[in-house]
Amino acid sequence: MIPVPIAPFPSPRPLSAWLLSRDGLPRVRMLSGGGTVAVALPNRYSMTHILLSGDAVVVVDCGSNEDVPRVLEALRWLGRTPSQVRAVVVSHFHFDHVMGIDALARRAGCPVAVSRRAWQAFNGGPRLRPPPARSTGVLLWGWAVQGFQLLPPSDRALVHRYLDPAGPNPFVSPLLPLDDGQELPGMPGWQALWTPGHADDAQALFHREAGFLVTGDTIRNFGGGEWNPVQCDPEAMQQTRRRLSALPVRAVLAGHGPVMEGERILARMKVIDP
Ligand SMILES: [Zn+2]
Repeated sequence: MIPVPIAPFPSPRPLSAWLLSRDGLPRVRMLSGGGTVAVALPNRYSMTHILLSGDAVVVVDCGSNEDVPRVLEALRWLGRTPSQVRAVVVSHFHFDHVMGIDALARRAGCPVAVSRRAWQAFNGGPRLRPPPARSTGVLLWGWAVQGFQLLPPSDRALVHRYLDPAGPNPFVSPLLPLDDGQELPGMPGWQALWTPGHADDAQALFHREAGFLVTGDTIRNFGGGEWNPVQCDPEAMQQTRRRLSALPVRAVLAGHGPVMEGERILARMKVIDP
């Protein structure tokens, strides 16, 4: 397998990230198993995950316009072209995961795959709730763990369209709604799971044979691996926790922080009061 020689974190590596990241800074990781490959690519504000199956590629999250060339570079090193990307998946509609998605999807000529709940919100259904005000301190701390990344001009020009999850659909690319349990386009074995709690529209991606779980922000790894204490719906989060904990997961690819691996890895996730 070809290594992915991409800088592990936007440089210069910020001091606060070194000081506060107890599990170390995220690095580029490539996992393979069960006939699929999952690549974890640390980007400006959050992780991007690239899933490969045969000729097909699915990209999960792209938080910044400055992440787009990094994803394209990673695809080149993986021997794939943008035209092989079948969808860019939104793990959940928070700006630090989505601001580069439209640019990437247009470049690939593919749809933006959102959970059915997000699709409904953009089509007259109940709006998506933002993170609760009481979580502001936790969110600021998380930003510091990542080194207080500032928004470059290309993101500043767009951020007003992405900051409020309750706003209208900001994407120009066509939306592809994913139902709970639905297989990802062109990716046998990979299924979308609706995982509300951190966000109303949150979805995880799971490959049962490989045991790979891409969690978005339902789990983060700032302190060894924890269920995200930022929750717009704590009750739904509890159900999501129970549901995911019953799955045979061997690797957790979280929305922030390094990949976590091991048998019964989800049992090791910390629970922090919201
Ligand atoms: Zn989030």
